[in-house]
Amino acid sequence: MALKPLDILKFLPKTNCKECGFPTCLAFAMQIAIGKADLSQCPYVSEDAKKQLASESAPPIKTITVGNKEKINLGGETVLYRHEKTFYNPTGIGVLIDEDMNEEKIEEEIKNICEMKYERVGVLLKGEFIGIFDKEKGKFVEVVKKAYETGKNLILMSDNIDNLKKAIEISKDVRPIVFPDTLKDEILQIVKDNNLPIVVKGSNIDEISENVKKVKNSGVEEIIIYVESKKISDVFKNLILIRRSAILKKNKELGYPVLTIPAFLTDNYLKEGIYASIFIAKYGSIVLLSKLNGEILFPLLVERLNIFTDPQRPMTTPEGIYEIGKPDENSPVFVTTNFSLTYFIVSGEIENSKIPAYLLIQDTEGLSVLTAWAADKFNADTIANLVKKTKIEERLKKKVLIIPGVVAQIYGELEEQLPDWKILLGPREAAHIPSFVRNVEI
Ligand code: SF4
Repeated sequence: MALKPLDILKFLPKTNCKECGFPTCLAFAMQIAIGKADLSQCPYVSEDAKKQLASESAPPIKTITVGNKEKINLGGETVLYRHEKTFYNPTGIGVLIDEDMNEEKIEEEIKNICEMKYERVGVLLKGEFIGIFDKEKGKFVEVVKKAYETGKNLILMSDNIDNLKKAIEISKDVRPIVFPDTLKDEILQIVKDNNLPIVVKGSNIDEISENVKKVKNSGVEEIIIYVESKKISDVFKNLILIRRSAILKKNKELGYPVLTIPAFLTDNYLKEGIYASIFIAKYGSIVLLSKLNGEILFPLLVERLNIFTDPQRPMTTPEGIYEIGKPDENSPVFVTTNFSLTYFIVSGEIENSKIPAYLLIQDTEGLSVLTAWAADKFNADTIANLVKKTKIEERLKKKVLIIPGVVAQIYGELEEQLPDWKILLGPREAAHIPSFVRNVEI
């Protein structure tokens, strides 16, 4: 939970000695509260105070880290609504492999989770989890082995002690999540011995709290909650109750990430997709789908991207040279700002034009073209500096630079700053790039 500066100040010596780099202990506390300083910068804070502060500042929803190659944090949230601050850890999305599936279908879904990837606003979107459901038909361990080889994060849904032991032995380095049907002492012991997270279920918050207490008493600390119901309304209501109890009432028994499986609520795949989108918005930490189709997976990944971005910080693309198509020494160079949406739209339209080109992205702290120009962060000086800094001319014989049409004001000055270049004023709208490049002599 985010602490206020005065709460933090209680743990500081209040001598204002300045050794932390701030003029007073209060100034230091204010910087810690907004995440711009670390308590370790004050050499006089006792170990006890550090521990107490860490426990008081821990998020009301515990953060659980799973995975190896595709490590992912679950939970760790501090607010009910994104606009209050931000959501930190995106919902993990995955596929549920059921032992009833035939070999071909199992192979297909494992292939899908590995191959279905989409790039949007410079971010790679993909699913991260494979859940394997043991129905004691003899295939569970074999499927776990195949799923483990993908490097994805695993959820082992089994109540069979032998199968669980074998599956954990295969996959323990990815920290699989164990999801048993019952909380047998032997299963709790295996989970504890291997330091793994466990899924604890219940049909309502009282039952869940009781089961969480039992698991905690066994010494297992990393818990993921599952609401057991066949009705979407029950699951949705309980997800909200769990989040509200954890954040507003500081209920420790409910302060854990939550697993959701929309496939258990409907046989209709379209509805499953809709339920998944509800759980991404409120408040699933993991969503498992019964199969992966692009038309359902892609919108869910985009929804997740939109919800789990910091509303106070614009999304950005790293500054640099981007190649669109296979540009050569005669290809034109476009320049624009690093607001991700701008990059995404401009690069898409250059691609649509079918003319290979270089795209220079300038760091404008995530501002779009006109805003950056108005803030004096995208002008003839900054563009000329970027051209020189990236040494783009070393890749070119013909030096043609196309600037966005909305910054026509900088055209003359840019020509003076880059005398070896032919500067072209591009269209005002990115959508007109294809017709622009077809009709202009480059
Ligand atoms: Fe205060 Fe510690 Fe900073 Fe000194 S180093 S001013 S005691 S916070």
